[in-house]
This record gives sequence, C-alpha cells and structure tokens, in this order.
Amino acid sequence: MRAFRFLLIFLVIATVAGFSQSASAAPAPGFSLDTIDKSIDPCVDFYQYACGNWIKNAEIPPDESQWVSFVELHERNMDIERGILEKAAAGGARRDAIDQKVGDLYGSCMDEKAVDSKGIAALKPELDRIKAIQDKGALMDEIAHLHMIGPSPLFGFYSSSDLHNADQVIAYIDQGGLTLPDRDYYLKDDEKTKGIRQHFVEYVTDIWTLAASQPTEAGLRPPPGTGLLSSQAADTVLRIETALANAQMDRTARRDPKNRDHKMSREQAAALAPNFQLDRYFRDINAPPFTELNVGNPDFFKQVNAVLESESLESLKTYVRWHALNAAAPWLSQPFVDANFKFQQVLTGQKEIQARWKRCVNLTDRELGEALGQRYVEESFGPESKARMLKMVDTLEKSLADDIHDLSWMSDETKKQAEIKLEAIRNKIGYPSAWRDYSSVVIKSDDLLGNVQRANEFEAKRLIAKIDKPLDRKEWGMTPPTVNAYYNPSYNEIVFPAGILQPPFFDPKMDDAVNFGGIGLVIGHELTHGFDDQGRKYDPQGNLHDWWTEQDGKEFEKRASCVADEYSNFVAVDDLKLNGRLTLGENTADNGGARIALAALEHMIAEDKTGKEGQKIDGYTPEQRFFLGFGRVWCEKRRPEVARMRVLTDPHSPGKYRVDGVVQNMPEFQKAWGCKAGQPMVAENACHVW
Ligand SMILES: [Zn+2]
Repeated sequence: MRAFRFLLIFLVIATVAGFSQSASAAPAPGFSLDTIDKSIDPCVDFYQYACGNWIKNAEIPPDESQWVSFVELHERNMDIERGILEKAAAGGARRDAIDQKVGDLYGSCMDEKAVDSKGIAALKPELDRIKAIQDKGALMDEIAHLHMIGPSPLFGFYSSSDLHNADQVIAYIDQGGLTLPDRDYYLKDDEKTKGIRQHFVEYVTDIWTLAASQPTEAGLRPPPGTGLLSSQAADTVLRIETALANAQMDRTARRDPKNRDHKMSREQAAALAPNFQLDRYFRDINAPPFTELNVGNPDFFKQVNAVLESESLESLKTYVRWHALNAAAPWLSQPFVDANFKFQQVLTGQKEIQARWKRCVNLTDRELGEALGQRYVEESFGPESKARMLKMVDTLEKSLADDIHDLSWMSDETKKQAEIKLEAIRNKIGYPSAWRDYSSVVIKSDDLLGNVQRANEFEAKRLIAKIDKPLDRKEWGMTPPTVNAYYNPSYNEIVFPAGILQPPFFDPKMDDAVNFGGIGLVIGHELTHGFDDQGRKYDPQGNLHDWWTEQDGKEFEKRASCVADEYSNFVAVDDLKLNGRLTLGENTADNGGARIALAALEHMIAEDKTGKEGQKIDGYTPEQRFFLGFGRVWCEKRRPEVARMRVLTDPHSPGKYRVDGVVQNMPEFQKAWGCKAGQPMVAENACHVW
C-alpha cells in the first residue's frame, strides 16, 4: 500500500524481487577531465566526447544491472548508512528509540543464521490463514490483510490528494496485482518476452516447490487425489495475472491524469465490481467512513469482476498465496532468496546478488527511512549546503520566469497564469522539517519478516488515517539519503533530498559552471516538470484545472510532439526504440532544464564584476564546462536485459539520449562548441518547448 507518482529525475528499479539495487564499494568521484575522449568530435556525439574515457574504464559491478553517477553516489551513501546501522545494532540497552528501531531492523536482517533456521515457518501464519479460507468473501478479508502488511494482490489501495481539491486527501483504488514489472510482459508475443514468461513460470514453480517441501508448509502440497503440482500452481498464477494485465491501462495512457480521474461515491465503486466486495474490504482495513473515492481505472475493476466470478476459489487462493510467498521471499531463508534473485537476473542481467549488508541497508531505508535519515543528516548534511542550494533554486526560478516571459509562442494571458504557477512552486531541500514518528512500530532483534510486516502495516495505517483530512504539505516522498529529486504536481513543489547534494551533482570545490550543469540542471528539470505534458494540466494549487488558452494549448502540443518524435527515433538496445510518448515529460524536463540552467549561469557571469566567472578553466569556457558537467552526470553503462526492461517501464531516456537528445536542440550548445549545420549535434528541426 504505497503511493508514489511523482516526477523523478532518475528511476531506481524496484523489481519483482522487491529490493532496490546498488553496487560494490567505491567513493563517488566528482567532475574530472579524465572522463573526456578527445579523439571524438563533440559536434558528432557529445555524450561520447564527455563520457568516452569513463565508458572505456568503467565496469558494471557484478551486483549491479547498471552503472551511472546516481548509483555510484548511492553506493557512498550506503557506506555512511552502514556505519550508522552497525553502531545502532550493537548499541545495547542504552540506545535511544531511533537507534533501537533502525539497529534492530538491520540486525534482524543481518542475522542470516536465525533467518535460515526459521525457513518458511516465518510465513506460516499467513499461509495458514490462506489455507483456512472457505469462500470468496473470506478471500477478500485476506487480501485486505495482505495489503496492510506488504503484498499487493489483485488491486491497489492508497490515499492521495483529491485531483480537483489538492488540499484534501481522499481514498484511491487502482489497477494492480501483477508480479512482472508491466502489463506488456504478459501481453507481448515476441520471443524475448515469451522467454521471460517461461522463466516466470519456472520461478513460481521453484518457490512453490521449496515452500511445499518444508515441514511447516500450509496448503502448498497437492490435496490427496487432486495431483496439483507446483507447475500447475504456476500456470494458474500466470493465467490470472494475464487476465489482470489485459484489464490494465498502459503506462503511456496513464501519464494523462484525465485517464485516472474518476471520482465516485463509495456505492458506485462497490456496484462497479460487486465481486470485489469493496465494502467488506474497506471495513477490513479499518478505513474511515468516507463517502467518495477515486477509482484510477474503472474498466479494470469491471473486467476483473468477471475474472473473480470465473476463477475457482482454489485458483484464487493459489494466486493470493503466490503473492504472499513472492513478497516474503527476499526475507526468508537462503534457498528462497536464491530463487528470487535467479529470476531478478532474468529481468535485469545482474550477475551477482548484492552483499547482504547492502540489502539490509536498503530495507531499513525503505521501512524506517525517516529514522535512519535523521541520523544520516546529522552525519553528513550541513546548513551551508542548504544555503547554497536555496540560492541556486532561486536563480533557476528567475531564469525560468525570464524564459516564460520571452516565449514567442505563448500569449500574454497564458504567460500570466504560468508565472503565477511558477511563483507558487515551493521547494524542499535536504530533509523534512518534522520527522515521522515510528514509536508505534514494534521492531524485534530476531524477527525479520515480522519487522517488515509491522513496518509495512505502520505505513498502511498512516496512509489510511490521512483519508478525508487536509493535505500535510510538510511531508516528504523520499528519504534523506536518496540520490534523486522530484516534482509533485499536487503539492506544486520541487524536492531535493540531502543524498543528491554531493559530487558529481553538487561540488563546493568546483566552479559554478560545472555545478550548474549538474545540480543546476536537476533543479531546472524539476521546475520544468510543472510545465510538461502532465504538469501543465495542474494549476498553482495542485488541482487538475486547465489554465491555458485553447490556442496556447495547441501550440504546446505541437512543440511537445516534436520532442516525442525526436526521441522515438533513438535506439535503446538492439533494434528496440524508445517510446517517445512515455518519455515525453522527462525529455521535456531535460531540455527545459538545460536551457534555464545555462541561462542562469550566463546571468551569473554577466553579473560578476570580477570577471572570474567568465574565465576559461583547463582550456574550457564556462559554457563548455557546463555541458561537460551535464554529460558527466549521465555517463552510464547498462546491461542489455535492464535496457530492455527500461524501455517498457521507465519514463526516462537512457543517459546517452538525455545528453545528445538535448544538446542537438540547443543553439547555445552549438555556439559553445563551434558546431556547424549538418553535423549530428545540430538538429535540422530543433525542438523547443521551454
Ligand atoms: Zn523528471
């Protein structure tokens, strides 16, 4: 039960395995001329010029599916977190409440021996509950219970801002219930996708067989005389999930908030799909007596209603049992962890599983992120970083205001509204002003799966308690050590966790040009999200409300289509091209972000009376260093498996196109590097939205 629909700068892969990824130890290096390949002409392939030597020398660590500055930096942050957690885990009885919680969660995760000796017994209470289910009503009770403690079978439930009254939080139900990362994995019929489905069936079979072979198994062995085998359980899971996938809206359609905007009464929602027994479900999760909610995809509920009718109780129990097993697998004994990782390898190409301490650091960050984050900030984030960031944000906001003011294609009427929206954007830097209080979560030093379930339940209750209450604008959607940033359209805010405010994004030792190409561009990217194909549909208060004149809306669409067509021609891997419509918002933000960050730098150079800002360093002009700083951030290597997965699931383009796709649209780039018409980094039809 987690809602996260913000516009990020970078996607951290959350795979079916449920754990995010990172890499083996190396301090995060900052900007360096050593990454440049001077044998390449920057006007032919700027990404290759800026990153060529980096690419030659970098190797994807075996426990990674990709290698890029975000992951490098996450690695460094994990080292800091590990130090905090090891101290907290060893701290004994005199620890304060925060150290007890994060230390014992981490400690319970690191105690492999205890986890291994428990085996599937850790999940037995859940398996017993599922085994005892006698009818489809009781099945809905169990689904409600699982939604509270982590697994997410059948559909999604959460709370979020009302799309038309952002100050108010309401309940949402939405499509869901899949194991694989996207509906396309179930529906596409090319050889690669069919191969992944075959591996998925093997994965379900492996986990099922493992669970059934342990002495405490509950309902996993075939009832006498039925002959139901593990492979048949796997076929059942695939059949039901394929039916759910068929009823899902695709990612590109979901980008348009109008397609997810279906507020209705509780009675209407219940009547939409009677077999879901939603009233019973809401009672089970102890939801407040709300009268209206948003149904993200009504067709999903209508279609799946028939699936619930046609599938037998036993088949549905098999499906629900699978979700309980799959969610628990990374936190069970070694054979389950191995089977789970084996399937993750199929999806991402990762060669080795991460060291256990990394998985345990990431788990603690996910479950108790603002407790661990509080310690992280104490150790590694000072007030001077915040002050310098605030200044940069301010400069970038002025730069975007100038950009809007000077736009040739927008009428004064719409410009005025855009300026009001820009003025209203709030910013959050470093860490929350009020920390989340985890005191009600019980964390035991010897109960890993129980800890995970109780921490998930805390989060689910927190989301449910917000229903029908005013929006808490102080909340953060990312933890402080996270190497990322986001724009949230309902809050109309940009957010930069402490974790990203370091080299190569932000380096106090570097010149402003390099920092404007790094964190400056990230700030510009997030600001632009407020005005991309999605963000432009929200008003300054965060409500879905069209503030554009009809003609300006058309002009925007025309320019956005230029960006969509440009990126649709880029090849991600083999013969697989990017989806220009899925990545449109991010590409628009990259292009707009680069323009306004460079303009902000030019402004700073013009204002500098000492003339220092405008000087060359190491033979490069400030403009050239800006673009080199930008390129450095996106130097990247990906395994082919994960490159394929990202084309289907990631709204961001691969690093090469985040750089080359932008600079070929920029006359400022061509001037800085002396590029001529006809060269690859000089687009014939340059796209320009912001
Ligand atoms: Zn973004």
